[in-house]
This record gives sequence, C-alpha cells and structure tokens, in this order.
Amino acid sequence: MELVFLGTGGAETTPKVGCLCSICQEARHRGGRFVRNGPSVFLSGASVLFDTPEDVDKSLEREGIHEARHLVYTHWHPDHTGGIRVLEQLNMDWLDPKGRRVTHVWLPSWVREDFRKRHGLEENLEYFERAGIARIHEVGEGDPFQLDGISVRPFRMTQPGLTAYVLEQESRRLVFALDDTKDWKPSIEFLEPDLLVLETGWFERDLKGRVIVPTGHSIRNEEASFEETLGIIERINPRKAVLTHIEQLWARSYEDYLELEKKHHGQELQFAYDGLRIKL
Ligand SMILES: [Zn+2]
Ligand SMILES: [Zn+2]
Repeated sequence: MELVFLGTGGAETTPKVGCLCSICQEARHRGGRFVRNGPSVFLSGASVLFDTPEDVDKSLEREGIHEARHLVYTHWHPDHTGGIRVLEQLNMDWLDPKGRRVTHVWLPSWVREDFRKRHGLEENLEYFERAGIARIHEVGEGDPFQLDGISVRPFRMTQPGLTAYVLEQESRRLVFALDDTKDWKPSIEFLEPDLLVLETGWFERDLKGRVIVPTGHSIRNEEASFEETLGIIERINPRKAVLTHIEQLWARSYEDYLELEKKHHGQELQFAYDGLRIKL
C-alpha cells in the first residue's frame, strides 16, 4: 500500500489564479513541488481516493492514476467536493454502457446529510448511481467498513460536518484528519498510529515578521493554527506526522517548509508536497 498526495493545497491552490504574490509567482516559474493542487490523497492497492477538489483530474493524471474503485469524503466543503464530476471522467462510457466502471462512494451519515443540503452534491451522486458509474454507501460513526483489505472507521470532529478516519491494514494504523481540526480532541482510537496526516493550520506571521492573520480575524476562531496542530500531534503521538492542506496565503514556499521541518526534527514531522508518496 502506498499513500499518494495528489494535492496539498487548501481552499486556495498554489499558484492561485489571479494572485501575483511571490509564492504564486515562484510556483509558476519553478513548478514541481512548488505547486499545490486542491486537497486530496489516494491509497494505491485498495484504490481509494479521499475527496475531489476541482483539479483532482489533473492531479490523478500527473500521478498516472487511471481508476478509483473507492471514493471517501471527509466533508462537503467545496475545496473537497468541487471536482465530484471526476467520477464521470473516470467511469463513463457514452458509447457503450457495458464499458462503464463503478466507484463505491462512502459517506458518513452526517456528511450525507450535508450532501443533501449543499450544492446539489447528493443529486449529483444519485445521477451517477442511475448512470451506473457510482454506488453510494452510507456509514455510521465508528462503524468499520472494508475497502479491499483496509478497515476504515469514520468519526465526527468538533467542527460541524467534519470527519476524521482511522484506517487499519494488518498491524499498521493510519489516522487522517485532513481539514478543520480546530478544537478537535482526538479520542483514544486515534492515539499512537504509524502515520498521522493532518492539516497544517494557519501562521500568524510571514517569514519577514509581517502579520498575516490579525488579532480578531475570523480565521482564528474557525481554523487551527500551526501551534495548535503541533499540540494535536503531541497528543496523538504518531510514529510519523505529515502535514498537508497548505494555503498560499501562509506565504511560505516548498523550501521554507523544508527549513521548518528541520526545526521539528525530533517530532518526525514532514510537510507534504504534490506527488509525495509514502510506502506503508
Ligand atoms: Zn479544505
Ligand atoms: Zn499568491
């Protein structure tokens, strides 16, 4: 099993269209690890895609991934669902209905509730189901479901609609908390996994000391800061932590995150980049 980081950007990708900041310009000129597509990861072997940001088709193409037998959603936010039509791209055969493929779509009950209310997401999936290219499975909190040898359990997080996952294969255990970890108090199921994948959180200042998120800004109440993220890592105590969902807004480039990794060497902490692969 291999974990592939398809996109490591957040609600904003890098470069962000229309933005001429130095981070976005550097991404345009240097490409590769300086570019961050929308947030999603993929488990090879079991063929599981987590979330569908707008540009997920481009990320799958870049990684040479040509099918997804399973699709698991973490929550309804547009940066995680805006590319839901990728199922049509992957599975539809307009000329020969027998040539169509099926992706199993796994929705925790609270995520499905949101899909029914938000952006026509449920409607989209039901259309795909009628077309024979998706099958929806609703799952309850803490109830394990099996994806080709991987046992997966969904749990609600503190932020409304959010899901954290515990994944187990043989003796290995992974925890995904891919977004909106603010005020999350991980319960005992989450502790001491082999790998923890977590959102990065916001930075108060850029590297020149200029304030990015001023006191009183709503981001402070709604999103975890990088310091809070470090606190969650300390509590969960994984063998390795990989941070993703990195906004261009934080004014740090791929190379700056490498420097930051060195400062936290003892924590076995790594910042993800698009195309990072971790063997499990
Ligand atoms: Zn997000
Ligand atoms: Zn920018």
